[in-house]
Amino acid sequence: MAKTKMANVHPPRQGAPSGHLFVVSAPSGAGKTTLCAAIRKHFGDLAYSVSYTTRAPRPGEQHGRDYFFVSVEEFEKGIAEGRWAEWARVHGNLYGTSAQWVRQTMAAGKDILMDIDVQGAEQMLKHFPEAITIFISPPSMEALQERLSKRGTDDAAVMALRLANAQKEMARQNMYHHVLINDDLETATQEFIALLARYRGSSSTSRD
Ligand code: 5GP
Repeated sequence: MAKTKMANVHPPRQGAPSGHLFVVSAPSGAGKTTLCAAIRKHFGDLAYSVSYTTRAPRPGEQHGRDYFFVSVEEFEKGIAEGRWAEWARVHGNLYGTSAQWVRQTMAAGKDILMDIDVQGAEQMLKHFPEAITIFISPPSMEALQERLSKRGTDDAAVMALRLANAQKEMARQNMYHHVLINDDLETATQEFIALLARYRGSSSTSRD
């Protein structure tokens, strides 16, 4: 792990239970989806924030499980009504997190895992200063480029856009409490688990 500083987590007031809010970001190709899946499997009681998005579902994605897929009109209505804890435009689509869901889940004392972009993480820190932010970084830009081209899902123009975005996101990693370098997947998974366990203490439930 390249850099790590414990977040300033305030203990909940008496009678006011509050879970931890773990906010994870990464450039595409850094392995965030795989790492978050491993974390969710390990900590079975972690509540995963299902985002709202205007992008079309990809094959295999399910409404309500991967995302809530909504129209641009509905999303914009949500902005006007203050329904999002944070929202951002990423790669041309809108993405947002339900403020009501975050508040209710934290009030129930549950820990939350959110997978959102850098702009969203910045907003979360403003609205929820107790949030614990984690940036997953590829070992280098060259490694990221190699992973993206191996994936083979993008044409040259899309890949150039993803790499340009990745560069911008990498430049913002200093704002995160923790930077996890995903060089070797198994090592990164163990470091990620250990990091969350440090915050969660004995309140965590592991399936292992
Ligand atoms: P994808 O469309 O590939 O699932 O996600 C694209 C990017 O959008 C990822 O970086 C992901 O973290 C980010 N993202 C997903 N949900 C949200 C959200 O609710 N808010 C923000 N700000 N970004 C999100």
